[in-house]
Amino acid sequence: MMTKKTVPTTLMPHGGVRRHGAAIFDDAPHDPYQVRGKYAEPTTCADCRAIYVRGRWRWGEAPAEAHEALCPACHRIRDRLPAGEVRLVSTFVDAHRDELVALALNEEAREKSEHALHRIMGIDQGPGRMTVTTTDIHLPRRIAEAVAHAYQGEFVLEYAKNEYGLRAEWRR
Ligand SMILES: [Zn+2]
Repeated sequence: MMTKKTVPTTLMPHGGVRRHGAAIFDDAPHDPYQVRGKYAEPTTCADCRAIYVRGRWRWGEAPAEAHEALCPACHRIRDRLPAGEVRLVSTFVDAHRDELVALALNEEAREKSEHALHRIMGIDQGPGRMTVTTTDIHLPRRIAEAVAHAYQGEFVLEYAKNEYGLRAEWRR
């Protein structure tokens, strides 16, 4: 069961977005892949080399004595179980694929530098559409907002009820 939330882009001036998002995420269910106390400190991820220190995953140099494990994002990637996705649906997509992919990757790079576990898992292309899957529920919203900001159109956010998941869909 998904809860649907339409966000007309005309009602989202740039400064208002963060507060709006924070209100939603306060109620968001916890990611089951991020279990408290699961990792010893320090731990480094065997796949992406992120390090777990002071209770969170971040980028940096792993100490020599670090334990080794799989971080929650790499665990999801191995399980092929995205937490979020953003679908771009429009004939506009066919003519602007490279720009849209670049924009999604740019948003990922910015998000990932601050939040090591927020990443793109895959980009699936089809006629008139593009689907970007992610390891977290923040990046789909961020990409949808960036696409709407750059190319107009409207997007809808569907938060999974009682579980950690978000599907965003942009159309124009
Ligand atoms: Zn990892």
